Amino acid sequence: MSSHLPDFVDPWRLAERGKGFSGQIELARLPRLAEALASPAGHADFDLQFGWDGEKRIHITGTVRARLALKCQRCLEQMNQAVDVAVNLVVIEVQEQAALLSEDVDPVLAEEGQISLMDLIEDELLLSIPQVPRHAPELCRVDPADLESVNELEDTMADPTPFAVLEGLKSKRQN
Ligand SMILES: [Zn+2]
Repeated sequence: MSSHLPDFVDPWRLAERGKGFSGQIELARLPRLAEALASPAGHADFDLQFGWDGEKRIHITGTVRARLALKCQRCLEQMNQAVDVAVNLVVIEVQEQAALLSEDVDPVLAEEGQISLMDLIEDELLLSIPQVPRHAPELCRVDPADLESVNELEDTMADPTPFAVLEGLKSKRQN
């Protein structure tokens, strides 16, 4: 088991040797994920194992865990969500092979015989983010019953006065 995370790996060689990788990666190093977060602080723990499955396909199993700082879409404040992703991937060489997989596994495409572990970890974390992240009702600053007034407030904020726009431009120029 290696804790060093190479950029690209050859999944065939790793499966042949039954190799795996485990360790930590800073969330800030995953640009697509960082963009989707309220804050890229923190890290993900990963544990990925390569092997062959019963159908002679390369199987990547393991876990990716992180605490993600998301933006609650109800109160717009930060919320921390622990995600614990069970990785269950089959390596494919051409996109068409994806259609042949059963529903309990996901495909990962090897390009020129290689896959990027960082992309793989990033994709797993991106898929774990709920489409509309929201605090649990008891933790949210906004009572769902008050939602109507919040929507009204957001409408007002989304429509800045021309004066506010000008102020914004001025401060931008000064920066
Ligand atoms: Zn909230």
